[in-house]
Amino acid sequence: RSKQLGRDTFSFHHDEMALAARRRLEMEHGLRQALEQGSFELWYQPQLDLCSGRVIGVEALLRWRDPARGLVPPLEFIPLAEETGLIVPIGAWVLRQACREARSWLDAGLNPGRVAVNVAAPQIERGGFEQVVARVLEETGLPAAALEVEITESSLLHNADNAKRVIAALRELGVGLAIDDFGTGYSSLAYLKHLAVHRLKIDREFVRDLPGDGSNLAITRAVIALSRSLGFAVVAEGVEVQAQADLLRREGCDSAQGFLYAKPMPGADFANWLAARPD
Ligand code: C2E
Ligand code: MG
Ligand code: MG
Ligand code: MG
Repeated sequence: RSKQLGRDTFSFHHDEMALAARRRLEMEHGLRQALEQGSFELWYQPQLDLCSGRVIGVEALLRWRDPARGLVPPLEFIPLAEETGLIVPIGAWVLRQACREARSWLDAGLNPGRVAVNVAAPQIERGGFEQVVARVLEETGLPAAALEVEITESSLLHNADNAKRVIAALRELGVGLAIDDFGTGYSSLAYLKHLAVHRLKIDREFVRDLPGDGSNLAITRAVIALSRSLGFAVVAEGVEVQAQADLLRREGCDSAQGFLYAKPMPGADFANWLAARPD
């Protein structure tokens, strides 16, 4: 009986694993096709200055529009794209598309501030990332100062020396640099000090339970204090209610993005949103 159970358990796991492997293959194939057929989209979420209320930037967020799967959020396909290396060409598309759209908003007389693009570790580790950025800026005519690259704290730690070199090269170009998901990756403060970074982004995880949660409040305060003393600006993500915005402003956080102000939206909607604002 127990032998039988063991065999059933085995084949159950076996089937599950086979299914998971097939799903991965299908998704990998889907991602390649999406790249060829132009099925990726960028959605945009504004970032506001907490004191003046002005728009200071906008984050480009990737979506995959698939006929069978619908609009697929990035967390469902970016891990696989990273594992397979597909994130390199996908990321290059993201960069070019964000710069192109930002250029078109500038041409329409709008001021979106800096457009922030998420960049994954393999894009930086592959080598030549700074050349890709320089070429895209040249091709699209977007000023370097209108672009910001977001690198997660954890991807900085993969290959710290290379990351440091790439960051310095981007700074040389005049591109802004933000550390994303800050507080989740255990980077040493000593290391941070040597990076040519402009901003830290406080991860949504810490903002979510503010103002009630005491330990998240302590972390948020510490990140803000650290940023200020190292000369970085701070942006908080995932701000959903006014009480969070008020607290962050009081604590000295410069800017914020979140559902309180706007959810991510397609580029055309963002342009309309921007055009309708008094500033
Ligand atoms: P992230 O860069 O930390 O982006 C912030 C995420 O928080 C976005 O999710 C955004 O929609 C969501 N968010 C913003 N404000 C709020 C809020 O007030 N409440 C809640 N509940 N959520 C909020 P999204 O668009 O699903 O992206 C998830 C992650 O996927 C991003 O996290 C980023 O790590 C990654 N990602 C997105 N686009 C790209 C890309 O082009 N390249 C790479 N490598 N990663 C990307
Ligand atoms: Mg980001
Ligand atoms: Mg983030
Ligand atoms: Mg985050």
